[in-house]
Amino acid sequence: MIVSYKYRAYPDAAGEARLHEALDTCRWLYNTLLEECNTARENGSSLTMQKTQARIVTLKEEHPALKDVYSKVLQMVNYTLWSNIRALSETKKNGRKIGKLRFKSAARYRTLNYNQSGFTIDCEGEFITFSKIGTIPFSMHRPYSGEVKGVLITRSGDEWYVIIQADQEVAAPRREGRSVGIDVGLNSFAVDSDGRVIANPRFSERSRARMKKLQQRVARKQRGSKNRENAKKKLEKAYAHITNQKNDFLHKLSRRYVAAYATICVEDLNVKYLKENGKSRGLRRSIHDASWGRFLAFLSYKAESAGTEFIRVDPRDTTQMCSNCGRIVKKDLSVRVHECPYCGFVADRDYNAAVNIHRVGMEQPLEPVERIPLHHISVMQVLSMKQEAPPESAG
Ligand SMILES: [Zn+2]
Repeated sequence: MIVSYKYRAYPDAAGEARLHEALDTCRWLYNTLLEECNTARENGSSLTMQKTQARIVTLKEEHPALKDVYSKVLQMVNYTLWSNIRALSETKKNGRKIGKLRFKSAARYRTLNYNQSGFTIDCEGEFITFSKIGTIPFSMHRPYSGEVKGVLITRSGDEWYVIIQADQEVAAPRREGRSVGIDVGLNSFAVDSDGRVIANPRFSERSRARMKKLQQRVARKQRGSKNRENAKKKLEKAYAHITNQKNDFLHKLSRRYVAAYATICVEDLNVKYLKENGKSRGLRRSIHDASWGRFLAFLSYKAESAGTEFIRVDPRDTTQMCSNCGRIVKKDLSVRVHECPYCGFVADRDYNAAVNIHRVGMEQPLEPVERIPLHHISVMQVLSMKQEAPPESAG
């Protein structure tokens, strides 16, 4: 299975100039080969992918700029052209009326495709060196895994991205091994059945003052002015920074759980939403839910490629039930401690819920729960977690 990992890239001015030149040259090649294909068809003959590939060699003499682009990248231009031609003829076969393949404008030609070779990835330094382009820093906000088959570098507006394509083996699911239940925390981001309490990320609050300042700066500048344009860019950058920080946190946290457990149980959000829709929910709560949803999505896809079982359980009674004796102990959102009047079990309400989620997910019969001390984990601890670090031990 080929998995793509997209990272923000930061070429310097010289690197960016070389990228633009290479894109320009590739676009010229694409359009030239397309025109030759069209001309051949009008003259009653036809070209093949092999013929246009051979044509690149002679074109290099007419258009020396081609020599400044890595040869495999040129080969991929030809490959892309022919897959477009094939896709078009497939559509025609299906009876759709469709015109000719379009020539590419500069705005629509955005990607250099380094397939198999011509690149060196330095994960430690977060650099990729592209043949004929040079070294480009990138931000590896999450690691990739598997054998790298190719790297694409692509432009989106003013921003550049590298896309690492890696071939991953899908591991066989393993049911045995450690398992955990995770619940969305009321006062924290999450609480798990092994007693971990993950603090809430508060990046946006910390950066709110700065965002406000930048927003005011944009508002004060004259419409259409260069200054306003610059202030806007700074604001967008600050916003992107917060988003990256949040995603970084969620990626690291989900990776930690997937590395540590063979089975992960969570509440089925869809069911939960249906049940709670009628209730009033604060803004803070909905923001929390949004990142919780993304956390579950990250967990789910990471679990799949790691062979970890991901179980969604019906959230009915997970909060109200006593995880020690199974009796229902009603409590509203303001009650933070679960205190069972039937068996005397006392625990943090979210921890009690996490234990229930775990038990329901594993379909285990109710067995007495030991009251364990909760282990608080700050966001900074999650963020500073090293890739290779062994998962934290349970309990
Ligand atoms: Zn009880």
